[in-house]
Amino acid sequence: MALPFDRVALIGIGLIGSSLARVIRRDSPRTRIVACARRAETLAAVRRLEIADETTDDPAAAADGADLVVVATPLSAYAGIARAIAPTLMDGAILTDVGSVKEAAIRDLSPAVRAGVHLVPGHPVAGTEHSGPEAGFAEMFRDRRCILTPLPDADREAVAKVTALWQTAGMKVVEMPAEHHDRVLAMTSHLPHLIAYTIVGTATALGDDLKSEVIAFSAGGFRDFTRIAASDPVMWRDIFLNNREAVLDVIQRFSEDLTALQRAIRRGEGETLEAWFTRTRAIRRSIIEAKQA
Ligand code: NAP
Repeated sequence: MALPFDRVALIGIGLIGSSLARVIRRDSPRTRIVACARRAETLAAVRRLEIADETTDDPAAAADGADLVVVATPLSAYAGIARAIAPTLMDGAILTDVGSVKEAAIRDLSPAVRAGVHLVPGHPVAGTEHSGPEAGFAEMFRDRRCILTPLPDADREAVAKVTALWQTAGMKVVEMPAEHHDRVLAMTSHLPHLIAYTIVGTATALGDDLKSEVIAFSAGGFRDFTRIAASDPVMWRDIFLNNREAVLDVIQRFSEDLTALQRAIRRGEGETLEAWFTRTRAIRRSIIEAKQA
């Protein structure tokens, strides 16, 4: 089904932006796609991949005449992009994003919003540890969730159009307040990444002999952490700095639980450990049942 957009500006055309471009190309070929990035190499790759009709390094030019503007850069670029596009956003334009922290996204994009411009913040909860336009693929979003965090007074028609966009990508779209989103994702995504960064960092600080053993025997669990810890450093720096309070809260809970397990191990309390691991196994089963494994 063709999308209800004539011209889509993708400001940021890395993993997420380019995957969305591929979806729009595949399912709504009459929609014109304008891709915006900073570096000439990125824009050259977009032209080579033929996933956009136009390329530019100027966000204001990209947004000019677009009925949908999707911000898909790291969060630290949002405020500058909002300033740049404010004068060229046309009446009736929908401004959305894909950022992993929603209160900060709303804070930084709001200055671009005037009467007649509709902000619909979003977060497709899908991805890989790779970056850049070559890493994208249309199927990345299939059967995953997309969370929209519209403000209470949001234009419902604009929300419906952004919902249609992500449904076209194969996503199940849900709505929740931005603050709730940020607390949920702090637990389900941000803390796991922080743990992976910590474990892999701890391993790299080991002596050389142990380090080579860690690599050789990585299939014992460590390997899964290395994949997560290979995620983009700038994107993750921005996520932790922009979701500071919610992340600090889950770190606090996590370290209390870690201390409890540490004590159980020290005291040889096998029952405590077994009961804990039995409970966590059930969580895995419910994720498999929800088809999110
Ligand atoms: P990415 O692959 O690193 O791509 C980022 C893109 O943003 C690049 O095209 C980059 O252009 C561009 N960019 C950076 N600063 C810019 C600026 N000031 N003006 C214009 N373009 C700029 O990143 P990504 O993984 O797609 O992530 C993008 C957003 O999606 C982030 O906010 C992230 O939180 C969110 N997200 C990511 C995932 C994931 O798994 N990766 C999942 C869900 C949501 P250059 O190449 O020219 O620098």
